[in-house]
Amino acid sequence: LVIPDFESFCDELGKIFRETLKNNNGKVADYIPQLARVHPDHFAISVCTVDGQRYSFGDSKVNFCLQSSCKPINYCLALEELGEERVHSHIGREPSGQSFNELALNSKGLPHNPMINAGAMMSCSLIDRESDIADRFDKVSKTWQALCGDKQISFNNSVYLSERQTADRNFALAYFMREKNAFPERTNLTETLEFYFQCCSIESCTSDLSVAAASLANAGTNPLTGKVIFGASTVQNCLSLMLSCGMYDFSGEFAFKIGLPAKSGVSGALMLVIPNLMGISIWSPRLDQVGNTVRGVEFCRRLVERFSFHQYDSL
Ligand code: GLN
Repeated sequence: LVIPDFESFCDELGKIFRETLKNNNGKVADYIPQLARVHPDHFAISVCTVDGQRYSFGDSKVNFCLQSSCKPINYCLALEELGEERVHSHIGREPSGQSFNELALNSKGLPHNPMINAGAMMSCSLIDRESDIADRFDKVSKTWQALCGDKQISFNNSVYLSERQTADRNFALAYFMREKNAFPERTNLTETLEFYFQCCSIESCTSDLSVAAASLANAGTNPLTGKVIFGASTVQNCLSLMLSCGMYDFSGEFAFKIGLPAKSGVSGALMLVIPNLMGISIWSPRLDQVGNTVRGVEFCRRLVERFSFHQYDSL
C-alpha cells in the first residue's frame, strides 16, 4: 500500500477539511446565471490513491461542471492522437502570465498553452478532426467515464446553452487565432467553440473525479479498473503543463508553494495530482480574484504544510 495507515491519513485530512471549511472568502462565478445560482457553501474533497484506497469529505456526490478542469484531458486526447510535435505546432507550452481568457497569443500567433481558453479551444480543434461532432463529443465523454472508473458522467445542458450565449470573448479569441492561421486547415470555428463549451459543461462529483485524478497520478492507468487510458509520456507532458500553467495566473505561486500539478475551473473545481501517490478532487464554488477556488487553494496549502507532498520536499 502506498499509504499504509490510510485511516490516520484520512483523520488528518478531515482536520484540514474542517479548518478549511471555515473560510467563506471569495465569490461564486457569475458570468452565467447557471453558475451564479450554485450554492456557495458546497465543499467536497475526495482522495483516491494509485492503489485504489478512497475516502471523501463533504458534498462528494453532488455534481458540478468541469469548466476549465476539462482542459488537461482534452490536451491528453490531442497528444495521444497526434503526438507532441504536431500538437505543439498549434499550441505553446509557456505560462501566459495573464488571465485565462486574455485576448493574447504568443509571438508565433499561437495560444500560450493548453490550460487557458485559447489553447483549450485549439485542443478541441485537434481531437478526432475527421469525425463528426457527435462522435467527437462521445470520445471526450467516454474518456472521462473511463478515467472515473467506468462511472456514468453527466452533461449540464443549461450551462452549455448559456456558455454558448455569453461567448463573445471566446469567439474573439478564436477569430484572433484564425487570423494568425493558428488552426489546422478546414477548421469549423463555430463547431470547435461549441465542442469546447460542451466539454466545459460535462458534470461529475469529487468522488468520481478523484479517480480521474488518480489515473493521472498513476501514469494514465485507472487504479480501479486497470484500464490504460493514456500513455505515460502523454501524462508526463500534461502534468508538466498543469504544474506550470494549471492555476491561471497563480500558477507560478502555486508551483512555488504547493509544488504539485493541478487544474482549476470557474465552477470551483480543482484537480490535484500527487504523482505515484494519489489524486485529489476538490470542489468549493467561491473563487478568488484570478478564478481559483478559495478553499481549494487553502486545502492544498494546508496539505503540503502537514505532509511532504511538495515535489521538492524529498530534497
Ligand atoms: N467556460 C469558461 C470559459 O470558457 C471556462 C473558463 C474557466 O473555467 N476558467 O470562459
